[in-house]
Amino acid sequence: MMDQDIVCQGCGVTIQTENKDELGYTPQSALSREEILCQRCFRLKHYNETEDVQMTDDDFFEMVSSLQHTDGLIVYIVDLFDVTGSIIYNLPRIIGNKPIILVGNKLDLLPKSTNHRKIDHWLRRTANESGISVTDVFLISSTKGHGIRHLTEAIEKYRKGRDVYVVGVTNVGKSTMINHLIEQTTGHKEVITTSYFPGTTLGFIQIPLDDHSNMIDTPGIVNDKQMAHYVSNNDLKKITPRKEIKSRNYQLDAGQTLFFGGLARLDFVKGDRQTFTCYFSNELPIHRTKLIQADELYERQCGKMLVPPDEETASKLPELVATSYRIESEKTDIVFPGLGWVTVTTDDITVVAHSPKDVPISLRESLI
Ligand code: GDP
Repeated sequence: MMDQDIVCQGCGVTIQTENKDELGYTPQSALSREEILCQRCFRLKHYNETEDVQMTDDDFFEMVSSLQHTDGLIVYIVDLFDVTGSIIYNLPRIIGNKPIILVGNKLDLLPKSTNHRKIDHWLRRTANESGISVTDVFLISSTKGHGIRHLTEAIEKYRKGRDVYVVGVTNVGKSTMINHLIEQTTGHKEVITTSYFPGTTLGFIQIPLDDHSNMIDTPGIVNDKQMAHYVSNNDLKKITPRKEIKSRNYQLDAGQTLFFGGLARLDFVKGDRQTFTCYFSNELPIHRTKLIQADELYERQCGKMLVPPDEETASKLPELVATSYRIESEKTDIVFPGLGWVTVTTDDITVVAHSPKDVPISLRESLI
């Protein structure tokens, strides 16, 4: 640990030089600078870029609950490729009674044929099930800049002169989005200002919107239902598509199984022969086998033929658990959060889907 006396002159957090991903990190060499800043403040000041820092749930709750008594608009960003992993449980309790705009990011990863109205519907439903009621929904791609202008206009309309708080779990693209919003709203001025909330050491980063109000970046929270949390950086690159995902089709008979690397599995238990349309990163190999051989294959080949997981992932990945579904509606997506989904089109089949414990599978009306 560092000398407790050194604090960041931007945000007030205690400086440390050991863990890059945690609060207050700065490289050793930066300690000799006249103005000592944590890496997060340094990047914002010099490159106009925000960078997410990770916090534990408890830190986050303590910190963000200081928002309860403020007035403002919440911009809640989720990853369209991992909506389950993007949920902030208890959000309304944490932030108090404020209007929430839900922003679905990484739209560029979904197939072009995806129906936006259905995405909108699915996001609202998922949010609702977690007790989050949203005022409006926007779909964007932060890396491509799609939808950012429209979002900026909507924020202006809904905030009615008040502050804007941006919240999201880590890895959903919050920093990338805020960097775009900074560009849209402020050009390239030096925007860093920080403010302290009662009971917290870390200042929230504020981007001035006008003379009286700010956009405030809150730290990303780690959601333990997020696939990203359980895989190595190397495997994360493999499971996260880089561009629009293309479907892969499998004609299956009952009694066949698909493995998605060794990270998830789908057994076709009962029903007529049909097409299973798989939407996963191209770098995630899909392997077809007989259901009766599937357990043994997994035992023998997980981490070898069935990859990812690599060694690091295998050491932290929870065991796969199975859930059985009877699917009776027409076009349904079986969603493996953070990995992808499988679309089935017929009206009465039984499948068993396996995913790492704590990364729950869900069903939705097909988006396509
Ligand atoms: P944060 O932890 O929420 O601040 O997330 P980052 O902004 O650091 O982004 C996490 C990862 O998602 C990075 O690899 C980004 O390049 C990627 N990312 C962010 N926005 C998008 C997007 O709109 N589309 C795609 N394909 N990737 C994105």
